[in-house]
Amino acid sequence: MFSLAHHGAVTGVTGSCHQLLLDNGHSLLVDCGMFQGAEATPGADADSLERRTQITFDISSVRALLVTHCHIDHVGRLPWLLAAGFDGPVYASRATCELLPLVIEDALKVGVTRDAGLINQVVGRLKTMLRPVDYGAAVPLPELDQNGQSVTACFKPAGHILGSAYIELTITSSASGAIEQVSQKVVFSGDLGARDTPLLPDPEPLVSADVLVLESTYGDKNHGDRRNRRARLESALKRCLTNAGTVLIPAFSIGRTQELLYELEDIFHHLPESSGGRSGLTDAVDVVVDSPLAARFTGHYRRLSEYWDAEARQRLVTGRHPLSFDQLLTIESHQDHMNAVGYLRRTGRPAIMIAASGMCAGGRIVNYLKALLADERTDVLFVGYQARGTLGRDIQHWGPKGGYVFVDGQKVNIAANVETLSGYSAHADQDDLLAFAKGPSGHSSPVRHVVLVHGDDDAKQQLKLVLEREMPGVDVVVPATPHESYRLPLV
Ligand SMILES: [Zn+2]
Ligand SMILES: [Zn+2]
Repeated sequence: MFSLAHHGAVTGVTGSCHQLLLDNGHSLLVDCGMFQGAEATPGADADSLERRTQITFDISSVRALLVTHCHIDHVGRLPWLLAAGFDGPVYASRATCELLPLVIEDALKVGVTRDAGLINQVVGRLKTMLRPVDYGAAVPLPELDQNGQSVTACFKPAGHILGSAYIELTITSSASGAIEQVSQKVVFSGDLGARDTPLLPDPEPLVSADVLVLESTYGDKNHGDRRNRRARLESALKRCLTNAGTVLIPAFSIGRTQELLYELEDIFHHLPESSGGRSGLTDAVDVVVDSPLAARFTGHYRRLSEYWDAEARQRLVTGRHPLSFDQLLTIESHQDHMNAVGYLRRTGRPAIMIAASGMCAGGRIVNYLKALLADERTDVLFVGYQARGTLGRDIQHWGPKGGYVFVDGQKVNIAANVETLSGYSAHADQDDLLAFAKGPSGHSSPVRHVVLVHGDDDAKQQLKLVLEREMPGVDVVVPATPHESYRLPLV
Protein backbone atom coordinates (compact mmCIF):
# COMPACT_ATOMS: atom_id res chain seq x y z
CA MET A 1 0.00 0.00 0.00
CA PHE A 2 1.21 3.55 0.61
CA SER A 3 1.42 6.44 3.02
CA LEU A 4 1.46 10.21 2.66
CA ALA A 5 3.70 12.91 4.09
CA HIS A 6 3.34 16.67 3.69
CA HIS A 7 6.37 18.95 3.52
CA GLY A 8 4.54 22.23 3.00
CA ALA A 9 1.06 23.79 2.68
CA VAL A 10 0.26 22.13 6.01
CA THR A 11 -0.06 25.11 8.35
CA GLY A 12 -1.00 27.58 5.60
CA VAL A 13 -1.29 28.01 1.86
CA THR A 14 2.32 28.13 0.67
CA GLY A 15 5.23 25.72 0.19
CA SER A 16 3.12 22.93 -1.35
CA CYS A 17 5.02 19.65 -1.31
CA HIS A 18 3.41 16.26 -0.79
CA GLN A 19 5.08 12.88 -0.77
CA LEU A 20 3.49 9.57 -1.66
CA LEU A 21 5.51 6.70 -0.22
CA LEU A 22 4.97 3.21 -1.59
CA ASP A 23 5.54 0.09 0.42
CA ASN A 24 8.18 -0.94 -2.14
CA GLY A 25 10.53 1.77 -0.81
CA HIS A 26 10.09 4.25 -3.66
CA SER A 27 8.30 7.57 -3.36
CA LEU A 28 7.24 10.52 -5.48
CA LEU A 29 6.64 14.19 -4.79
CA VAL A 30 3.72 16.27 -5.95
CA ASP A 31 4.95 19.89 -6.18
CA CYS A 32 7.90 21.47 -4.41
CA GLY A 33 6.89 25.04 -3.66
CA MET A 34 8.44 27.96 -1.90
CA PHE A 35 7.15 29.23 1.43
CA GLN A 36 5.92 32.82 1.59
CA GLY A 37 4.82 35.18 4.32
CA ALA A 38 4.51 33.82 7.84
CA GLU A 39 5.07 30.22 6.83
CA ALA A 40 8.52 28.74 6.56
CA THR A 41 10.32 25.48 6.31
CA PRO A 42 9.88 23.71 9.61
CA GLY A 43 13.07 23.65 11.61
CA ALA A 44 14.91 26.19 9.46
CA ASP A 45 16.62 29.15 11.07
CA ALA A 46 16.01 32.85 10.67
CA ASP A 47 17.70 33.64 7.33
CA SER A 48 14.78 34.43 5.11
CA LEU A 49 15.82 32.78 1.84
CA GLU A 50 16.81 29.68 3.74
CA ARG A 51 13.54 29.73 5.59
CA ARG A 52 11.61 29.79 2.35
CA THR A 53 13.54 27.22 0.41
CA GLN A 54 15.06 24.51 2.56
CA ILE A 55 14.49 20.86 1.84
CA THR A 56 14.45 19.45 5.35
CA PHE A 57 13.28 15.94 4.60
CA ASP A 58 15.00 12.82 3.32
CA ILE A 59 14.73 12.63 -0.48
CA SER A 60 16.69 9.41 -0.97
CA SER A 61 13.55 7.45 -1.91
CA VAL A 62 12.12 10.11 -4.26
CA ARG A 63 12.09 8.82 -7.85
CA ALA A 64 9.92 11.41 -9.60
CA LEU A 65 8.40 14.86 -9.18
CA LEU A 66 4.93 15.65 -10.51
CA VAL A 67 4.02 19.32 -10.88
CA THR A 68 0.40 20.52 -10.72
CA HIS A 69 1.10 24.07 -11.97
CA CYS A 70 3.88 26.59 -12.07
CA HIS A 71 2.98 29.09 -9.36
CA ILE A 72 6.01 29.76 -7.20
CA ASP A 73 4.36 28.32 -4.07
CA HIS A 74 4.19 25.00 -5.94
CA VAL A 75 7.53 24.96 -7.78
CA GLY A 76 9.82 27.48 -6.07
CA ARG A 77 11.91 24.96 -4.13
CA LEU A 78 12.79 23.02 -7.28
CA PRO A 79 16.36 24.39 -7.57
CA TRP A 80 16.97 23.37 -3.95
CA LEU A 81 15.51 19.93 -4.64
CA LEU A 82 18.05 19.55 -7.47
CA ALA A 83 20.81 20.82 -5.23
CA ALA A 84 19.81 18.24 -2.62
CA GLY A 85 20.48 15.54 -5.19
CA PHE A 86 17.14 14.84 -6.86
CA ASP A 87 17.81 13.60 -10.38
CA GLY A 88 14.54 11.99 -11.45
CA PRO A 89 12.04 13.02 -14.12
CA VAL A 90 9.69 16.00 -13.64
CA TYR A 91 6.24 15.27 -15.06
CA ALA A 92 3.91 18.17 -15.87
CA SER A 93 1.30 19.20 -18.44
CA ARG A 94 2.61 20.45 -21.80
CA ALA A 95 1.84 24.09 -21.03
CA THR A 96 3.42 23.85 -17.57
CA CYS A 97 6.58 22.39 -19.12
CA GLU A 98 6.79 25.45 -21.38
CA LEU A 99 6.26 27.93 -18.54
CA LEU A 100 8.24 26.27 -15.77
CA PRO A 101 11.79 27.16 -16.93
CA LEU A 102 10.75 30.85 -17.13
CA VAL A 103 9.35 30.76 -13.61
CA ILE A 104 12.46 29.17 -12.15
CA GLU A 105 14.76 31.51 -14.08
CA ASP A 106 12.85 34.52 -12.77
CA ALA A 107 12.73 33.21 -9.19
CA LEU A 108 16.49 32.71 -9.16
CA LYS A 109 17.16 36.08 -10.78
CA VAL A 110 14.93 38.02 -8.41
CA GLY A 111 15.61 36.22 -5.19
CA VAL A 112 18.93 34.40 -5.34
CA THR A 113 21.62 35.35 -7.81
CA ARG A 114 22.46 37.61 -10.74
CA ASP A 115 24.97 35.03 -11.98
CA ALA A 116 23.58 34.23 -15.45
CA GLY A 117 25.89 31.23 -15.84
CA LEU A 118 24.62 29.63 -12.68
CA ILE A 119 20.99 30.31 -13.57
CA ASN A 120 21.46 28.83 -17.06
CA GLN A 121 23.03 25.77 -15.53
CA VAL A 122 20.06 25.13 -13.21
CA VAL A 123 17.43 25.92 -15.83
CA GLY A 124 19.27 23.88 -18.47
CA ARG A 125 19.38 20.88 -16.20
CA LEU A 126 15.71 21.26 -15.31
CA LYS A 127 14.78 21.30 -19.01
CA THR A 128 16.39 17.91 -19.54
CA MET A 129 14.33 16.48 -16.67
CA LEU A 130 10.93 17.68 -17.92
CA ARG A 131 8.44 15.09 -19.21
CA PRO A 132 5.48 16.84 -20.89
CA VAL A 133 2.18 15.05 -20.40
CA ASP A 134 -1.10 15.44 -22.33
CA TYR A 135 -4.27 16.11 -20.34
CA GLY A 136 -6.25 12.89 -19.91
CA ALA A 137 -3.46 10.50 -20.93
CA ALA A 138 -2.64 7.55 -18.65
CA VAL A 139 1.11 7.85 -18.08
CA PRO A 140 3.00 4.96 -16.46
CA LEU A 141 5.77 6.04 -14.06
CA PRO A 142 8.35 3.27 -14.56
CA GLU A 143 10.69 4.80 -11.96
CA LEU A 144 8.28 3.70 -9.23
CA ASP A 145 7.97 0.07 -10.40
CA GLN A 146 9.24 -2.47 -7.90
CA ASN A 147 8.12 -5.52 -5.96
CA GLY A 148 4.79 -5.79 -7.74
CA GLN A 149 3.83 -2.15 -7.16
CA SER A 150 3.43 0.38 -9.95
CA VAL A 151 1.93 3.83 -10.47
CA THR A 152 0.11 5.44 -13.39
CA ALA A 153 -0.55 9.18 -13.50
CA CYS A 154 -3.27 11.12 -15.25
CA PHE A 155 -3.23 14.96 -15.40
CA LYS A 156 -6.63 16.63 -15.73
CA PRO A 157 -7.45 20.34 -16.30
CA ALA A 158 -7.80 22.22 -12.99
CA GLY A 159 -8.93 25.56 -14.45
CA HIS A 160 -6.60 27.54 -12.17
CA ILE A 161 -3.90 28.92 -14.48
CA LEU A 162 -2.65 27.94 -17.93
CA GLY A 163 -1.36 24.37 -17.78
CA SER A 164 -2.73 23.71 -14.29
CA ALA A 165 -3.74 20.15 -13.51
CA TYR A 166 -5.02 17.95 -10.78
CA ILE A 167 -3.27 14.63 -10.73
CA GLU A 168 -4.85 11.21 -10.43
CA LEU A 169 -2.45 8.47 -9.39
CA THR A 170 -3.47 4.84 -9.72
CA ILE A 171 -1.37 2.58 -7.52
CA THR A 172 -1.47 -1.07 -8.42
CA SER A 173 -0.15 -3.62 -5.95
CA SER A 174 0.02 -7.38 -6.10
CA ALA A 175 1.19 -9.33 -3.10
CA SER A 176 4.09 -11.63 -3.91
CA GLY A 177 2.78 -14.87 -5.32
CA ALA A 178 -0.80 -13.57 -5.56
CA ILE A 179 -2.47 -13.27 -8.94
CA GLU A 180 -5.01 -10.73 -7.83
CA GLN A 181 -4.09 -7.07 -8.06
CA VAL A 182 -5.39 -4.24 -5.91
CA SER A 183 -5.73 -0.75 -7.38
CA GLN A 184 -6.11 2.42 -5.37
CA LYS A 185 -6.55 5.94 -6.58
CA VAL A 186 -5.01 8.99 -4.92
CA VAL A 187 -5.91 12.41 -6.33
CA PHE A 188 -3.89 15.57 -5.64
CA SER A 189 -6.05 18.60 -6.41
CA GLY A 190 -3.18 21.11 -6.72
CA ASP A 191 -4.94 24.48 -6.85
CA LEU A 192 -8.44 24.28 -8.29
CA GLY A 193 -9.87 27.14 -10.30
CA ALA A 194 -13.19 28.74 -9.53
CA ARG A 195 -16.05 27.98 -11.85
CA ASP A 196 -17.08 30.69 -14.32
CA THR A 197 -13.75 32.48 -14.39
CA PRO A 198 -12.66 33.98 -17.68
CA LEU A 199 -10.19 32.63 -20.20
CA LEU A 200 -9.82 29.03 -18.99
CA PRO A 201 -12.33 26.16 -18.90
CA ASP A 202 -13.73 25.04 -15.54
CA PRO A 203 -11.97 22.21 -13.66
CA GLU A 204 -12.79 18.80 -15.06
CA PRO A 205 -15.09 16.90 -12.66
CA LEU A 206 -13.57 14.28 -10.42
CA VAL A 207 -14.63 10.73 -11.18
CA SER A 208 -13.50 8.94 -8.03
CA ALA A 209 -10.70 8.70 -5.47
CA ASP A 210 -9.85 6.50 -2.52
CA VAL A 211 -7.89 9.45 -1.17
CA LEU A 212 -8.34 13.06 -2.26
CA VAL A 213 -5.64 15.51 -1.14
CA LEU A 214 -7.64 18.71 -1.46
CA GLU A 215 -6.65 22.37 -1.33
CA SER A 216 -8.77 24.50 1.01
CA THR A 217 -7.64 28.10 0.42
CA TYR A 218 -11.25 29.32 0.46
CA GLY A 219 -12.68 26.40 2.42
CA ASP A 220 -14.53 28.84 4.68
CA LYS A 221 -15.80 31.32 2.09
CA ASN A 222 -18.00 31.63 -0.92
CA HIS A 223 -17.00 34.19 -3.52
CA GLY A 224 -19.39 36.91 -4.59
CA ASP A 225 -21.28 36.58 -7.82
CA ARG A 226 -18.66 35.77 -10.40
CA ARG A 227 -20.90 36.41 -13.37
CA ASN A 228 -20.87 40.15 -12.70
CA ARG A 229 -17.25 40.48 -11.82
CA ARG A 230 -16.30 42.29 -15.02
CA ALA A 231 -18.97 44.89 -14.34
CA ARG A 232 -17.76 45.26 -10.75
CA LEU A 233 -14.18 45.68 -11.91
CA GLU A 234 -15.36 48.39 -14.28
CA SER A 235 -17.25 50.31 -11.61
CA ALA A 236 -14.40 49.92 -9.11
CA LEU A 237 -11.98 51.34 -11.65
CA LYS A 238 -14.30 54.25 -12.45
CA ARG A 239 -14.64 54.99 -8.77
CA CYS A 240 -10.90 54.78 -8.26
CA LEU A 241 -10.13 57.09 -11.14
CA THR A 242 -12.46 59.91 -10.07
CA ASN A 243 -9.68 61.55 -8.06
CA ALA A 244 -6.98 60.83 -10.64
CA GLY A 245 -4.00 59.02 -9.18
CA THR A 246 -2.85 55.48 -9.79
CA VAL A 247 -4.87 52.34 -9.35
CA LEU A 248 -2.41 49.72 -8.13
CA ILE A 249 -3.41 46.12 -8.71
CA PRO A 250 -1.00 43.61 -7.13
CA ALA A 251 -1.30 40.50 -9.27
CA PHE A 252 0.52 37.26 -9.87
CA SER A 253 2.44 37.34 -13.15
CA ILE A 254 0.92 34.04 -14.12
CA GLY A 255 -2.81 33.71 -14.32
CA ARG A 256 -4.29 36.70 -12.58
CA THR A 257 -2.57 39.28 -14.78
CA GLN A 258 -3.86 37.62 -17.93
CA GLU A 259 -7.39 37.30 -16.50
CA LEU A 260 -7.35 41.01 -15.68
CA LEU A 261 -6.11 41.94 -19.14
CA TYR A 262 -8.81 39.77 -20.66
CA GLU A 263 -11.52 41.58 -18.70
CA LEU A 264 -9.98 45.02 -19.26
CA GLU A 265 -9.99 44.39 -23.02
CA ASP A 266 -13.69 43.63 -22.74
CA ILE A 267 -14.32 46.79 -20.72
CA PHE A 268 -12.52 48.95 -23.27
CA HIS A 269 -14.20 47.10 -26.14
CA HIS A 270 -17.61 48.05 -24.76
CA LEU A 271 -16.83 51.66 -23.80
CA PRO A 272 -19.29 53.93 -25.58
CA GLU A 273 -17.76 56.13 -28.26
CA SER A 274 -18.81 59.21 -26.33
CA SER A 275 -17.13 58.18 -23.07
CA GLY A 276 -14.73 60.74 -21.78
CA GLY A 277 -14.10 63.29 -19.11
CA ARG A 278 -11.51 63.33 -16.39
CA SER A 279 -13.46 61.33 -13.90
CA GLY A 280 -14.50 58.28 -15.86
CA LEU A 281 -12.81 55.28 -17.31
CA THR A 282 -11.83 56.43 -20.76
CA ASP A 283 -9.79 54.90 -23.48
CA ALA A 284 -7.18 57.52 -22.65
CA VAL A 285 -6.32 55.73 -19.41
CA ASP A 286 -3.25 53.58 -19.78
CA VAL A 287 -3.15 50.03 -18.50
CA VAL A 288 0.42 49.22 -17.56
CA VAL A 289 1.86 45.80 -16.85
CA ASP A 290 5.11 46.42 -15.01
CA SER A 291 6.73 43.01 -15.02
CA PRO A 292 8.97 41.45 -17.66
CA LEU A 293 7.83 38.03 -16.43
CA ALA A 294 4.14 38.86 -16.72
CA ALA A 295 4.76 40.23 -20.20
CA ARG A 296 6.49 37.01 -21.26
CA PHE A 297 3.70 34.93 -19.77
CA THR A 298 1.08 37.00 -21.48
CA GLY A 299 2.87 36.12 -24.72
CA HIS A 300 2.62 32.43 -23.88
CA TYR A 301 -1.04 32.75 -22.92
CA ARG A 302 -1.68 34.47 -26.26
CA ARG A 303 0.06 31.75 -28.20
CA LEU A 304 -1.47 28.79 -26.34
CA SER A 305 -5.05 29.73 -27.23
CA GLU A 306 -5.88 26.04 -27.72
CA TYR A 307 -6.21 25.88 -23.90
CA TRP A 308 -8.63 28.84 -23.69
CA ASP A 309 -12.33 28.38 -23.05
CA ALA A 310 -14.91 28.67 -25.83
CA GLU A 311 -15.82 32.30 -25.11
CA ALA A 312 -12.22 33.47 -25.27
CA ARG A 313 -11.61 31.63 -28.52
CA GLN A 314 -14.78 33.16 -29.96
CA ARG A 315 -13.37 36.64 -29.33
CA LEU A 316 -10.37 35.72 -31.47
CA VAL A 317 -12.68 34.59 -34.26
CA THR A 318 -14.39 37.97 -34.25
CA GLY A 319 -11.05 39.71 -34.75
CA ARG A 320 -10.48 40.90 -31.20
CA HIS A 321 -7.16 40.56 -29.39
CA PRO A 322 -8.17 39.59 -25.85
CA LEU A 323 -4.69 39.85 -24.38
CA SER A 324 -3.24 42.74 -26.36
CA PHE A 325 -5.16 45.95 -26.80
CA ASP A 326 -4.43 49.58 -27.65
CA GLN A 327 -4.33 50.96 -24.11
CA LEU A 328 -1.90 48.29 -22.89
CA LEU A 329 1.70 49.23 -22.13
CA THR A 330 4.40 47.06 -20.64
CA ILE A 331 7.48 48.07 -18.71
CA GLU A 332 10.58 45.96 -19.09
CA SER A 333 13.75 47.46 -17.68
CA HIS A 334 14.41 48.37 -14.09
CA GLN A 335 15.27 51.93 -15.12
CA ASP A 336 11.91 52.38 -16.89
CA HIS A 337 10.24 50.93 -13.81
CA MET A 338 11.91 53.46 -11.50
CA ASN A 339 11.06 56.26 -13.94
CA ALA A 340 7.41 55.18 -13.92
CA VAL A 341 7.32 55.17 -10.11
CA GLY A 342 8.73 58.70 -9.98
CA TYR A 343 6.51 59.96 -12.78
CA LEU A 344 3.31 58.71 -11.16
CA ARG A 345 4.29 60.10 -7.78
CA ARG A 346 4.93 63.55 -9.28
CA THR A 347 1.99 63.83 -11.65
CA GLY A 348 -0.82 61.75 -10.15
CA ARG A 349 -1.79 60.97 -13.72
CA PRO A 350 -4.59 58.38 -13.80
CA ALA A 351 -3.27 54.97 -14.71
CA ILE A 352 -4.04 51.34 -13.99
CA MET A 353 -0.84 49.66 -12.87
CA ILE A 354 -0.66 45.86 -12.64
CA ALA A 355 2.53 44.64 -10.96
CA ALA A 356 3.68 41.54 -9.11
CA SER A 357 3.87 40.04 -6.64
CA GLY A 358 0.25 39.29 -5.97
CA MET A 359 0.66 39.37 -2.18
CA CYS A 360 3.12 42.32 -2.28
CA ALA A 361 5.78 40.00 -0.84
CA GLY A 362 8.52 41.41 -3.06
CA GLY A 363 8.45 42.34 -6.73
CA ARG A 364 7.99 45.71 -8.39
CA ILE A 365 4.67 46.44 -6.68
CA VAL A 366 6.66 47.18 -3.52
CA ASN A 367 8.28 50.30 -5.03
CA TYR A 368 4.89 51.62 -6.12
CA LEU A 369 3.47 51.02 -2.66
CA LYS A 370 6.40 52.76 -1.01
CA ALA A 371 5.96 55.78 -3.27
CA LEU A 372 2.18 55.98 -3.53
CA LEU A 373 0.51 54.49 -0.43
CA ALA A 374 0.70 57.80 1.43
CA ASP A 375 -0.99 59.65 -1.45
CA GLU A 376 -4.75 59.84 -1.04
CA ARG A 377 -5.26 59.83 -4.81
CA THR A 378 -3.91 56.29 -4.93
CA ASP A 379 -6.15 53.25 -4.90
CA VAL A 380 -5.01 49.72 -4.12
CA LEU A 381 -7.28 47.08 -5.57
CA PHE A 382 -6.75 43.56 -4.28
CA VAL A 383 -7.95 40.79 -6.56
CA GLY A 384 -6.45 37.76 -4.87
CA TYR A 385 -5.74 35.90 -1.68
CA GLN A 386 -3.33 37.61 0.76
CA ALA A 387 -1.48 35.13 2.96
CA ARG A 388 -0.79 35.77 6.62
CA GLY A 389 2.37 37.78 7.23
CA THR A 390 2.53 39.31 3.76
CA LEU A 391 2.59 43.06 3.11
CA GLY A 392 -0.60 42.60 1.10
CA ARG A 393 -2.47 41.17 4.10
CA ASP A 394 -1.20 44.08 6.28
CA ILE A 395 -2.35 46.71 3.80
CA GLN A 396 -5.69 44.95 3.39
CA HIS A 397 -6.11 44.91 7.16
CA TRP A 398 -4.74 48.33 8.19
CA GLY A 399 -5.59 50.38 5.07
CA PRO A 400 -9.32 50.77 5.73
CA LYS A 401 -8.52 51.75 9.35
CA GLY A 402 -6.19 54.56 8.31
CA GLY A 403 -3.18 52.70 9.67
CA TYR A 404 0.36 52.30 8.47
CA VAL A 405 2.64 49.52 7.29
CA PHE A 406 6.35 48.94 7.09
CA VAL A 407 7.60 48.66 3.52
CA ASP A 408 11.25 47.60 3.24
CA GLY A 409 11.71 48.67 6.87
CA GLN A 410 10.26 52.12 6.19
CA LYS A 411 7.06 53.25 7.91
CA VAL A 412 4.45 54.34 5.37
CA ASN A 413 1.06 55.79 6.30
CA ILE A 414 -1.80 54.45 4.25
CA ALA A 415 -3.76 57.39 2.87
CA ALA A 416 -4.65 55.42 -0.24
CA ASN A 417 -8.09 53.92 -0.65
CA VAL A 418 -7.83 50.14 -0.23
CA GLU A 419 -10.42 47.85 -1.77
CA THR A 420 -10.76 44.13 -2.17
CA LEU A 421 -12.78 42.99 -5.13
CA SER A 422 -14.70 39.92 -4.05
CA GLY A 423 -15.49 37.07 -6.37
CA TYR A 424 -12.12 37.63 -7.91
CA SER A 425 -10.13 34.60 -7.02
CA ALA A 426 -8.30 32.05 -9.11
CA HIS A 427 -9.22 29.54 -6.40
CA ALA A 428 -12.29 27.44 -5.95
CA ASP A 429 -14.54 28.60 -3.10
CA GLN A 430 -16.28 26.42 -0.53
CA ASP A 431 -19.12 25.48 -2.91
CA ASP A 432 -16.65 24.70 -5.71
CA LEU A 433 -14.51 22.53 -3.43
CA LEU A 434 -17.55 20.64 -2.19
CA ALA A 435 -18.84 20.18 -5.75
CA PHE A 436 -15.43 18.87 -6.81
CA ALA A 437 -15.20 16.39 -3.92
CA LYS A 438 -18.76 15.18 -4.55
CA GLY A 439 -18.12 14.60 -8.22
CA PRO A 440 -20.67 15.04 -10.98
CA SER A 441 -24.28 14.48 -9.92
CA GLY A 442 -25.39 10.92 -10.23
CA HIS A 443 -22.20 9.54 -8.71
CA SER A 444 -22.69 8.52 -5.15
CA SER A 445 -19.84 9.83 -3.02
CA PRO A 446 -16.86 8.95 -5.21
CA VAL A 447 -14.36 9.85 -2.48
CA ARG A 448 -13.60 7.84 0.66
CA HIS A 449 -10.89 9.86 2.40
CA VAL A 450 -10.17 13.57 2.06
CA VAL A 451 -6.90 15.08 3.28
CA LEU A 452 -7.15 18.87 3.61
CA VAL A 453 -4.07 20.95 2.81
CA HIS A 454 -3.25 24.42 1.41
CA GLY A 455 -5.46 26.48 3.71
CA ASP A 456 -5.45 28.44 6.95
CA ASP A 457 -6.73 26.61 9.98
CA ASP A 458 -10.23 28.10 9.97
CA ALA A 459 -10.65 27.33 6.29
CA LYS A 460 -9.67 23.70 6.82
CA GLN A 461 -11.87 23.20 9.87
CA GLN A 462 -14.92 24.74 8.24
CA LEU A 463 -14.47 22.79 5.03
CA LYS A 464 -14.09 19.62 7.09
CA LEU A 465 -17.48 20.28 8.72
CA VAL A 466 -19.14 20.93 5.39
CA LEU A 467 -17.66 17.83 3.75
CA GLU A 468 -18.69 15.64 6.69
CA ARG A 469 -22.20 17.07 6.62
CA GLU A 470 -22.69 16.87 2.85
CA MET A 471 -20.86 13.61 2.20
CA PRO A 472 -21.93 11.17 4.90
CA GLY A 473 -19.42 8.40 5.44
CA VAL A 474 -16.44 10.34 4.11
CA ASP A 475 -13.38 10.47 6.36
CA VAL A 476 -11.77 13.93 6.50
CA VAL A 477 -8.19 14.27 7.77
CA VAL A 478 -6.48 17.57 8.58
CA PRO A 479 -2.74 17.00 8.91
CA ALA A 480 -1.49 19.27 11.64
CA THR A 481 2.23 18.71 11.72
CA PRO A 482 4.58 19.21 8.81
CA HIS A 483 6.40 16.05 7.72
CA GLU A 484 3.75 13.93 9.39
CA SER A 485 3.57 10.67 7.54
CA TYR A 486 0.53 8.54 8.03
CA ARG A 487 -1.33 5.68 6.60
CA LEU A 488 -5.03 6.00 6.06
CA PRO A 489 -7.22 3.17 7.31
CA LEU A 490 -7.67 1.67 3.86
CA VAL A 491 -9.53 -1.58 3.56
ZN1 LIG B 1 -1.68 28.40 -7.74
ZN1 LIG C 1 -1.20 27.33 -4.35
